Amino acid sequence: MAARGPGCGTVTELAPGIHSLGHGKGGHVHAFLVDDGGELTLVDTLFEGDARLVLEAIRGLGRKPSDLKRIALTHGHRSHLGGLAALKRASGATVYAHEWEADIVAGDRRAQPVSILPRQSVRLLPFQLGLWLGRPKHVPCPVDELLGDGDALGPLQALHAPGHSPGHLAFFWAERNFLTAGDAVATWPELCPGWHAFNLNKREHGATLQRLAALDPGIVGVGHGDPISQGASDKLQVLASRPVP
Ligand SMILES: [Zn+2]
Ligand SMILES: [Zn+2]
Repeated sequence: MAARGPGCGTVTELAPGIHSLGHGKGGHVHAFLVDDGGELTLVDTLFEGDARLVLEAIRGLGRKPSDLKRIALTHGHRSHLGGLAALKRASGATVYAHEWEADIVAGDRRAQPVSILPRQSVRLLPFQLGLWLGRPKHVPCPVDELLGDGDALGPLQALHAPGHSPGHLAFFWAERNFLTAGDAVATWPELCPGWHAFNLNKREHGATLQRLAALDPGIVGVGHGDPISQGASDKLQVLASRPVP
């Protein structure tokens, strides 16, 4: 199933019950809607403030917003939080994040800035500058439940995957061999071990990449760019074998 909406958003079913929601904004940001045949779980919320694409995707599955029971955030960066407040209102879903990110999501603290010097690609400079300035701001939304390493979230397992940010989470659906790597890996503007300027802690990030590669995933969703559905495990192994830039 693939559909293209009026806002250049795309919804693609990567495998049964795994839907990739992509957006041109926010650095080709992606979110993932997981349907295990019962309740719906969403990982990240895209950039758009009205959550239109996510709500369209839910309705496109023949479901209603209140079927969304869980919204999990990989971390507290703006591109991933845009739709959160609107989705919480529309669905009443429980909002989950790691303890370190929760007060950023709630609007009590700014995300840690990164260097604004050119690194990797000039196309990333607006995002470096945005984090440095703390602009644009997302609509704050309280986190209902904290997630730690190994916690279950519907069919997903939360994995603490720090480096890009201290409370960064990845999620693994073992039964479907599906990993959402968040911003630990990106495929836009190129396949890379996260956007270089954003890797706050290289040692932690390197350990995260090795741990994610060891899962041997068949499909890897990433925070920015298209999901990896061909040779995903091999590609992660290569990223994990190199020094973190
Ligand atoms: Zn990020
Ligand atoms: Zn991001």
